[in-house]
Amino acid sequence: MRVVVLGAGFGGLELSSRLSVALGDDVDVVLVDKNADFVFGFSKLDVMFGHALPDASRHPYRDVVMPAVRFVQSTVRAIDPIRKLVETDDGDFAADVLVVALGADLHPEATPGLVEGGHEFYTVGGAFALRDVLARFDGGRVVIAVTSTPFKCPPAPSETALLMHDFLTTRGVRERSQLSLVMPLGVPIPPSPSASNVLLSAFAERGIDWHGGRLVRALDAQRRIALLADGGELPYDLFLGVPVHRAPAVVEQSGLTVDGWIPVNSKTLETKFPDVYAIGDVTSVGTPKAGVFAEGQAAIVADALIARLRGDAESPEYDGRGICYLEFGRGGVARVDVTFLTGERPTGDIEGPSAEIAADKREFASSRLARWFAGKEG
Ligand SMILES: Cc1cc2nc3c(=O)[nH]c(=O)nc-3n(C[C@H](O)[C@H](O)[C@H](O)COP(=O)(O)OP(=O)(O)OC[C@H]3O[C@@H](n4cnc5c(N)ncnc54)[C@H](O)[C@@H]3O)c2cc1C
Repeated sequence: MRVVVLGAGFGGLELSSRLSVALGDDVDVVLVDKNADFVFGFSKLDVMFGHALPDASRHPYRDVVMPAVRFVQSTVRAIDPIRKLVETDDGDFAADVLVVALGADLHPEATPGLVEGGHEFYTVGGAFALRDVLARFDGGRVVIAVTSTPFKCPPAPSETALLMHDFLTTRGVRERSQLSLVMPLGVPIPPSPSASNVLLSAFAERGIDWHGGRLVRALDAQRRIALLADGGELPYDLFLGVPVHRAPAVVEQSGLTVDGWIPVNSKTLETKFPDVYAIGDVTSVGTPKAGVFAEGQAAIVADALIARLRGDAESPEYDGRGICYLEFGRGGVARVDVTFLTGERPTGDIEGPSAEIAADKREFASSRLARWFAGKEG
């Protein structure tokens, strides 16, 4: 069976490693990504706040040594979901099973004034460049804001506000700074009232202004004012934005999307095209766009393909569960365990923040690297 996996992010790497470990020579996995290396989403915050070095946060795909997996660094130009044929800059790949895991593309240019008058911290380039910008920042009005929905890792703007508070405090400029967080959600983490309450208390305790249920639509770069969708205005000296998200153009052109994202069967991750699956941020499966959910979906597709090759009648269905780590600053990390099931209200609870959970998060990252790059179970 030849499985062609498009995108070597959280979803594509997890799927490839699971197939390789379970099936060895019985499967031929072609894993395609335009980038040379993988960067965890949370490493963007680590680099921008000076907690990690850029080079140490890049994990080169040339180190992928899983026996069944061939990594191809190339840009996907066209996807034919009927023929299961993929066109890349380095040739065509025909698949028995095709898995689209191309994530969400980010568009800072889609928010008027953002490129000219602000910064974004969601792309690798944007977050890594902020490291130098922050190192030079001498205090003032800081606005952290979301510019559209959906956006990935809904807790990330809250984490950024808490880490920014620490950063400004350590540099001795917190007292002459104001910190505002603009989020489209009414509370920071809607499926988890307990996590939202802990976050709102942390914002209040640190003097972070919370603007829930609001969005920034544009920046007036000359006047240095953020223009809110409800007509409000927020002046800033430093603007850190979450840019507009869209499915990659090649996915939209393939006919796989409806209303911008790929609809899938929420239990199996199948698209409407036979033997074409989609996982992670590129889908509208109903979970938040986050690595832990992409990983959980990859496991379900892997189990289905393993069951098929072994002749097993059944494989598990997706349960919409994910455990997210949440940076609180001051060395503490919390854990939020959330479940999104079709037709039911999502629920979740928070543990921490604590130094022990911070250690668990480090273990989470290192276990993924061992699995994805060396095919080690764990
Ligand atoms: C600041 C920040 C913090 C975050 N923190 C967390 C966290 O703590 N926990 C968590 O679970 N999630 C976190 N996330 C979210 C997480 O990074 C994403 O949700 C996750 O990576 C999605 O996985 P994916 O496999 O769907 O897509 P991705 O990991 O985005 O992978 C998609 C891949 O497709 C490739 N690609 C796209 N188009 C093409 C093309 N045309 N040709 C070839 N390759 C292409 C891309 O290069 C990319 O490698 C964070 C995100 C950000 C921005």
